[in-house]
Amino acid sequence: MVIRGEVAVVFVCLLASAQVKPQPKANPAGEARSVHMHAAVDLKKRLIKFRQVEMPFHSEGLSAREKQMVEKLVETSRYLDDIYWRQVDPEGLSIYQTLQGSINSEDADLRRFLWINGSRFDLLDANKPFVGGPASPGGGFYPQGLTRAQVEKYVNAHPEKRAEIYSATTTLRWRDQELEAVPYHVAFRAFLDPAAKALREAAELSPDAAFAKFLRLRADALLTDDYFKSDITWLELKRPKVDVIFAPYETYNDGLLGIKATYGGAVLIRNEEESRRMETFQKYVAEIQEALPVAERDRPSKRGLETPMEVVDAPFRTGDLGHGYQAVADNLPNDPRVHELKGSKKLFFKNFMDARVIYVILPLARYMMPAKQVAEASGEGYLLGTILHEICHGLGPAFAHNNSGDRVDIRAAIGPIYGGLEEAKADVVGMFALKWLVDHGVLPKDKLKEYYASYLAGNFRTIRFGAAEAHGQAEMMEFNYYVEHGAVRRLASGKYEVDYEKMPGQIENLAKELLDMEATGDRARAEAWFRKYDVISPELQNSLKKAESVPVDVDPLFSFPREVH
Ligand SMILES: [Zn+2]
Repeated sequence: MVIRGEVAVVFVCLLASAQVKPQPKANPAGEARSVHMHAAVDLKKRLIKFRQVEMPFHSEGLSAREKQMVEKLVETSRYLDDIYWRQVDPEGLSIYQTLQGSINSEDADLRRFLWINGSRFDLLDANKPFVGGPASPGGGFYPQGLTRAQVEKYVNAHPEKRAEIYSATTTLRWRDQELEAVPYHVAFRAFLDPAAKALREAAELSPDAAFAKFLRLRADALLTDDYFKSDITWLELKRPKVDVIFAPYETYNDGLLGIKATYGGAVLIRNEEESRRMETFQKYVAEIQEALPVAERDRPSKRGLETPMEVVDAPFRTGDLGHGYQAVADNLPNDPRVHELKGSKKLFFKNFMDARVIYVILPLARYMMPAKQVAEASGEGYLLGTILHEICHGLGPAFAHNNSGDRVDIRAAIGPIYGGLEEAKADVVGMFALKWLVDHGVLPKDKLKEYYASYLAGNFRTIRFGAAEAHGQAEMMEFNYYVEHGAVRRLASGKYEVDYEKMPGQIENLAKELLDMEATGDRARAEAWFRKYDVISPELQNSLKKAESVPVDVDPLFSFPREVH
């Protein structure tokens, strides 16, 4: 194992160094190191779309030991970034490192944009590289040039290797004519060993025995790739004051097969007051599930499942949580076995949510919606919509039933559009659930307008990203559906307003449609639906153009320095 591990690490490093651009000689004149890298010329324009926002670490409520623990958790989270870059874009990492220490402003711009994207691929430009060579859909997960067809052919000829090749936590490489799957804990041992050690050191500092136990189990998981036990322990934590996300969970960076997970890390400090308030919603989750407009078989009981919810500040994030879209909420883990047995944890990153509403959503809404409805939109409405979105990822069918009535995995049945469908389901069922809470007296009746206005305002933010990824696919479709059915109207001014009368009925219709697609696992129907609705109209494009000066996302500046090695 160890020997294989070293070979694998060398392989990863070679991959990174093979693509290093020649290091320019010392250049006292201050010539940009990036000058020979063929970087996009309009980087300044691309950078202003990301508003730098300070995300200070508020340590007021923590003891000296807890502060030390947080620092240890920050330290160990950095190792996940080291792995993440190698998974997603080894060439981008080399360029980023080559630019280190340059005082040239073009180099600094390029470096900052590389950091924002966590790669050479521009999120806002359909993931096209803005520097360096062409993108490889397999990133660092697969050997260069490997195709889906080759993988399928190989697996058909070697069915005994199917599980390891399709595992979320292996990288693939050719060894002679054989396709070899290298487990992450072997491939990334050089980073995972010190990460596990630091997690154990953090556990020593924790005054919370349950959290310390979790950290130790997670350290074990890093070195075995078996996260099940530590995921369960993570869900059993009761209102931890400090928490972390620390795992390879998300697969959306695997452009070839969509199955390989990237590492992501976040240090979380609980916001006690907001968390308590959110817990009131938990009481209703099972009842909302039972009220969904879908056949009884497709809304399995949620009674007795853990649905811990934490409103937290995230003073540090790395890996897939540190780059690209800055998530304001998460629902983890993704393992359906854990969902069925225990449920999942919903996390709301309050410092990121506040920044998004202040610097992106409300400024954009001022261009896109009439003043009266902008005034109705609010951070509070957005927070509630986001909370219900995350809760509703866990609602609806757990499995699809095919024509012969067999239970099949929804993700596998729906195929590549699943991500968009699931995000849309969470949005729309979430809005359905908000109305349910109002109807049942949990939330005040006069707040409904605020929720709908905030929903539409949030829609515009996501639509600007285009329909290249799941959330964009989802919200573009939702918007077009509401416009088609008159629940959202375009005004002569080029702005859009919610029809508060029609909105609830159309939300229910759309929820029914999406839940039914998941319940039947009907891939052709889902694909046709998104093909029809994932089109941006020239009018909408014109309206969005006027709002071009509004940033697209925030670029968080933490109290802890940005580093990758
Ligand atoms: Zn979601």
